Amino acid sequence: MARREGVGHKVLAAAVAAVMVAALAVFGVLPTMVGRNMNGHIGGRLAPVSAEATALQASLDIADLHGDALLWDRSLVRRGSWGHLDMPRMVEGRIAVEIFTTVTKVPRDMNIESNSGDSDNITLLAMLQGWPPRTWSSLTERALYQADKLRDAEADSEGGLRLITTAADLDAHMRARREGSIVIGAFLGIEGAHALEGALENLDRLYDAGFRMVGLAHFFDNRVGGSAHGAEKAGLTSFGADVVERMDSLGMLVDLAHSSEALIDDALARVNGPVVVSHGGVAGVCDNARNVTDEHVLAIATTGGMIGIGLWETALCGDSPAAWARSVRYVADLAGVDHVGLGSDWDGAVATVVDASGTVYLVQALLDEGFSEDEVRKIMGENAVRVLREVLGGGVGAP
Ligand SMILES: [Zn+2]
Repeated sequence: MARREGVGHKVLAAAVAAVMVAALAVFGVLPTMVGRNMNGHIGGRLAPVSAEATALQASLDIADLHGDALLWDRSLVRRGSWGHLDMPRMVEGRIAVEIFTTVTKVPRDMNIESNSGDSDNITLLAMLQGWPPRTWSSLTERALYQADKLRDAEADSEGGLRLITTAADLDAHMRARREGSIVIGAFLGIEGAHALEGALENLDRLYDAGFRMVGLAHFFDNRVGGSAHGAEKAGLTSFGADVVERMDSLGMLVDLAHSSEALIDDALARVNGPVVVSHGGVAGVCDNARNVTDEHVLAIATTGGMIGIGLWETALCGDSPAAWARSVRYVADLAGVDHVGLGSDWDGAVATVVDASGTVYLVQALLDEGFSEDEVRKIMGENAVRVLREVLGGGVGAP
């Protein structure tokens, strides 16, 4: 009996150990494997950069309209061995402002042509990464939890990362940078207004948590409006009209990346301040369902807003810094150099041309494209800071 019990214990212990190893593999390693595989680099070896590009990049305050680093189980404060976005790499890349966007739901077999909202991969990712149970069934809670992660990173950063929620914050931040402080200004954004779960009060909760940009749609149609990759691709709903009106009065930036053409038209008719496409490409260079038409580029420029040109293949139809600069040039020629910038989508489950440390290659590509140093300053940061400043400054909710 004793022997059998001993064997039984050993079998049990072995079984428990096997389950623990499997759980560790699933809960620890699998999300990292997924993240590592989904957030790689495209293109071959990058050509050396000139002394001019190096000197210019070293003097820039670079702003990026879209990065999804909060989705992954990786430190923002320490340098990562995979992905694109963390503080050490952002410091090397002279990133002054980053909008950290929160993904809350993506359909299985996601594509840019047509998706339903019936399935979701983020639930499993949240569970595997050990997110709290309140995030398993609530999209709003997923956004709020990712905001908590950013605040935790801010607390761990010893002053190196600062959440920006007001025009005064932004002004103080840019002043500190000019005086030589190495500090990164972080904004919070939502990728897809399904995170509101159809309730206007959730917009207020997210505003109170520090969110200042809302992408109206992501990969499927939601209760605010249609996605460019949705089944119906409709315009703004009556709830969506309430949402953009409330965003306008609070001082939140409307992001039309991933929005259907009808939704872009409807939003442009209702929003008073500047709007953006935080990350994407232009159909005039790379014609697919992910990229913005000439007409919409011009209409967005008319609001005082801008297009953040992304760094991945579907945005660019190319795999190099030169391909990125070609799309920047297209928007600058079409709508003006004040209306284009960087919308990397770093850590957004895409392979990118460079990671956050590689902005000097983008600066070189802009110089090669014939932009002046003043124009490079606008494209790499001043345009985005201007838009954010205007939206924050106009809000009745901004103290
Ligand atoms: Zn996106």
